[in-house]
Amino acid sequence: MASYSEDEFAGIPAEPASSFAAAPDAYQRLWTPHRLVYIEDGQQPAKDDCPFCLAPEKSDEDALIVARGEHAYVLLNLFPYNSGHLLVCPYRHIATYDEATDAEVAEIGSLTQTAMRVLRETSSCDGFNIGMNQGRIAGAGIAAHLHQHVVPRWALDSNFFPIIAGTKAVPRLLGDVRAEVANAWPRS
Ligand SMILES: [Zn+2]
Repeated sequence: MASYSEDEFAGIPAEPASSFAAAPDAYQRLWTPHRLVYIEDGQQPAKDDCPFCLAPEKSDEDALIVARGEHAYVLLNLFPYNSGHLLVCPYRHIATYDEATDAEVAEIGSLTQTAMRVLRETSSCDGFNIGMNQGRIAGAGIAAHLHQHVVPRWALDSNFFPIIAGTKAVPRLLGDVRAEVANAWPRS
C-alpha cells in the first residue's frame, strides 16, 4: 500500500467540478502529478524474483498450479477472496494485457473458460468475477506480471466479517482445492 504523509497535500487546492464546462459531477479533484513518480517507481519484483515467473519452475503441488498450457498457466491465488480463486498467467513477464501476443490472449481466454467450467463442476458456484487489475494503482498486487483473476461466487458468500473484522473466512485449504481442480481439469 502506498503511504501518504499528513501534509503532503497541504496548500494544494481541490478543484470543484462546478467550474467545468458541460454537466459537472459531484466530485472535487485534487490534481497530483507530483505523485506519479512514486506510482511509476513503485516497488515491484524484478523478473528474477517474480512469483509468477518462479512458479512454473516448481512442482504443481508446491506452486499450487492446476493446469499448464503452451503460453499460459493457471494457479491458485495464495490470497484467495473465495475458495477456488484462480489466476491465469502468461509465462512471459509482461505487465499489461496489450503486451500479450495473439497466442497468449487466445490461451488466457481458453484457460479462463476452462477454469469456469471446472470450478462450476467442482464447487457448484453460482457466478464468477473475472478480471485483470492493470497497474498497481488499479489494485494489482503483482503489477509487473499480468494475471487474470477467476473468482467463483456463491449466493450469500459475502457477509459482515470482511467489513467489520478485516477477515475473510475461506472454508477450504489451498492444497485440497488445488488437487480437486487439477484432477477435474480436462486433459488435452
Ligand atoms: Zn514475472
